[in-house]
Amino acid sequence: MEKIFNYIGGKLVEPISGQYLDNYDPATGKIYSLTPDSDERDVEKAVEAASKAFPYWSKLSPEKRCEKLLKIADLVNQNLEILAEAESIDTGKPKSLASQVDIPRAVLNFRFYATAIIHFSSEFYETTGQAINYTLRQPIGVVGCISPWNLPLYLFTWKIAPALAAGNCVVAKPSEITPMTAFMLSKLCIEAEMPEGVLNVVHGLGQKVGAHIVKHPQIRAISFTGGTQTGKWIAAQAAPLFKKLSLELGGKNPSIIFSDCEYEKTLETNVRSSFMNQGEICLCSSRIFIEKPIYERFRNDFVQRVKSLRVGDPLEKETELGAVVSETHMNKILSYISLAREEGGEILTGGKRSILSGRCQNGYFIEPTVIEGLSFDCRTNQEEIFGPVVTIQPFETEEEVLNYANSVSYGLSATVWTENLSRAHRVASRLESGIVWVNSWLLRDLRTPFGGVKNSGLGREGGFEALRFFTEEKNVCIKIDNL
Ligand code: NAD
Repeated sequence: MEKIFNYIGGKLVEPISGQYLDNYDPATGKIYSLTPDSDERDVEKAVEAASKAFPYWSKLSPEKRCEKLLKIADLVNQNLEILAEAESIDTGKPKSLASQVDIPRAVLNFRFYATAIIHFSSEFYETTGQAINYTLRQPIGVVGCISPWNLPLYLFTWKIAPALAAGNCVVAKPSEITPMTAFMLSKLCIEAEMPEGVLNVVHGLGQKVGAHIVKHPQIRAISFTGGTQTGKWIAAQAAPLFKKLSLELGGKNPSIIFSDCEYEKTLETNVRSSFMNQGEICLCSSRIFIEKPIYERFRNDFVQRVKSLRVGDPLEKETELGAVVSETHMNKILSYISLAREEGGEILTGGKRSILSGRCQNGYFIEPTVIEGLSFDCRTNQEEIFGPVVTIQPFETEEEVLNYANSVSYGLSATVWTENLSRAHRVASRLESGIVWVNSWLLRDLRTPFGGVKNSGLGREGGFEALRFFTEEKNVCIKIDNL
């Protein structure tokens, strides 16, 4: 059975406890590798290694750091297919998706921040007649990056790339549910001759490894992506230590479809935005609101399209939906489908576990599910399900649909479908959401601010926002006589 190792001080090492956790392939329900069950002693070693590496790495010129990160990007790119297959086995997602989205995006994350740092600048202010001020943006020191299971390498690199580019040394923890590609990246970092201790990857449970990273006094900033409850706990721990904090949390994203939308494009994109990656993307639409005049037509066409989605072995080319990430997660999603029934919802398609044959017969598959007839404020429409489940509801006015859309405690992303320009701007400006897409979904420009409002998080990632987060400002004021 393949063993995963921690990456500390430039070396692949066993956890000090010698203990391992089972790592499952969700498509088969079988254990296929072992993940270190690390604890505070491993975190301590990683912090020591990172602190030791910091003076060298932080003083290296941005161009030299850029070179190193580009080298890693190239190696990830060269290993794209192997990494995509590993990501598919670890998460259950279709391999085709991992090779078109997850791994190319990991390459892009490194390239984007490797080059962004050489264009990053800070501010200057002239205090007329008296002084000049300049603001240094210096690396923070040792920072912690904690990432979830749904887009493992994609989100892991989205954090570590800006942290490293800005000159910090990192102690990172991937999800214990999907550790494989972070381990493979550790090996590529060795191949790229990353200086020892600049990046350290400690595998293990959130409550052990993650919690120690959060509480460690020498780790001065935490960048976290994951669930809202975990984010709340992290915020409570980090606040008295005055750590910098970036929190990217859950969502319950609305899709608002007006009668004047471009019908075919809207239909096709809503199928994708609801079910891509089995609905396990924080940006997936989970509540679709359709204007009354086209409600029935859209509902029927949407359900027909969803029925034709192919749930299957993630390694097969034609598969559109793979397995959900774990048995626990599958049961959580199924319990929400039961709740929807209790709340009066009608299942238009899907609604149960999908049993496949052959090697995937014990896998954790769920039929893509569409539910109608629920009130906007019931639990099914308020709580994050994070699976292939979407609800649809009709609306009559802009005011009404804004009220529905904004009724949840979350505010990550929203999509608006209309050909009326004024309405698009008006609705976008009134949505309580960090990201709004008009007539599109998941159209990403890495320079734009990314993040949520309300219980969807704190702070923004993306572009120079992430470089600002991973640096500390220091203003230097120089008094000049007779200026
Ligand atoms: P999670 O909160 O359970 O875990 C996320 C990470 O935090 C994992 O590495 C986990 O081990 C670690 N962790 C758990 N408890 C911890 C603790 N006490 N201290 C420190 N670390 C701890 O989330 P998940 O189930 O892995 O991911 C799914 C969630 O992530 C969903 O809510 C989804 O919406 C959210 N998500 C948000 C975004 C975004 O950009 N806003 C992106 C992807 C996923």
